[in-house]
Amino acid sequence: MIHVKKAFVIGYPIKHSRSPLIHGHWLKRHGIAGSYEPIEVAPAELEAFLDRIRSGEFVGGNVTVPHKEDAWRLVDFHDVDTDHLKAFNTLSQQQTADGIAIFGQNTDLYGFLANLDQSAPGWDVGVHNAIVLGAGGAARAVAAALAPRATGEVRVLNRTLDRAVALAEDLPGRIKGYGLDEFDRLAPDSQIVVNTTTIGMHGTRFDTLDLGLLPKSALVTDIVYVPLETPLLADARALGLRTVDGLGMLLHQAVPGFEAWFGVRPEVTPELRALVEATL
Ligand code: NAP
Repeated sequence: MIHVKKAFVIGYPIKHSRSPLIHGHWLKRHGIAGSYEPIEVAPAELEAFLDRIRSGEFVGGNVTVPHKEDAWRLVDFHDVDTDHLKAFNTLSQQQTADGIAIFGQNTDLYGFLANLDQSAPGWDVGVHNAIVLGAGGAARAVAAALAPRATGEVRVLNRTLDRAVALAEDLPGRIKGYGLDEFDRLAPDSQIVVNTTTIGMHGTRFDTLDLGLLPKSALVTDIVYVPLETPLLADARALGLRTVDGLGMLLHQAVPGFEAWFGVRPEVTPELRALVEATL
């Protein structure tokens, strides 16, 4: 009998997730007898659901909104490289002398960097200061990813200043919190801008940012990927600035999980990108 390895993505709600498409593509491509299913799990059911990894039913899975912070609290072993993000999106089995335990990690940090490294090789050469728009969950991963790559300061700009300051104080490295209204002052000596706010979804835009104040060589990237070209990216492209969209981050963040569950490191190919792009 073939042993089918089962993985999941849990969230509340979950039906909009594109992760089943990504992992389903890789399972087929590598001829692996496995499954990856979306399961709606209400917050009150999370703790009990995770026992289904410890019992051996699932080899692991992805965790999305609103469970990432709770997953960080509930797993048995924490990835040392992403523990400081205090939110995990990828869980996998870890064998111990006492049985199966759960290992948690956050692959958004890896996905963000791998997307830039693939889409704009050498992007970090000459990056002194970086601007991160937003101070929510995704901003933590992006700011932590940028801190070792920027020689100067990672500037977290948020509508709610307190959240930007708190995020900066909570993470290691040269990260500083500012209000969103400081963009024009900070832009001229910032070499990369990353949008991690929900602005851009469904075509919404920032009214107040003057991208023309950025250096001509600056890179603008958005982690929002619906639409693929957000108004921010369209404005940046119209000014002749380099741009990278957010779909690649979604694809790359899936790589470490698939490898942990199914034992093969998959690739982010143009074919996979086209498959997911067709659903946006
Ligand atoms: P979150 O924790 O809810 O944070 C939302 C952020 O957006 C906060 O900083 C919030 O500012 C800001 N914001 C919301 N509405 C705003 C407005 N009208 N004006 C100014 N700022 C506003 O969300 P998240 O989990 O970080 O996710 C953010 C986005 O990233 C989502 O669109 C998500 O889909 C996307 N994402 C993409 C990937 C990928 O793989 N590409 C991965 C993760 C997330 P306040 O603090 O002032 O409220």
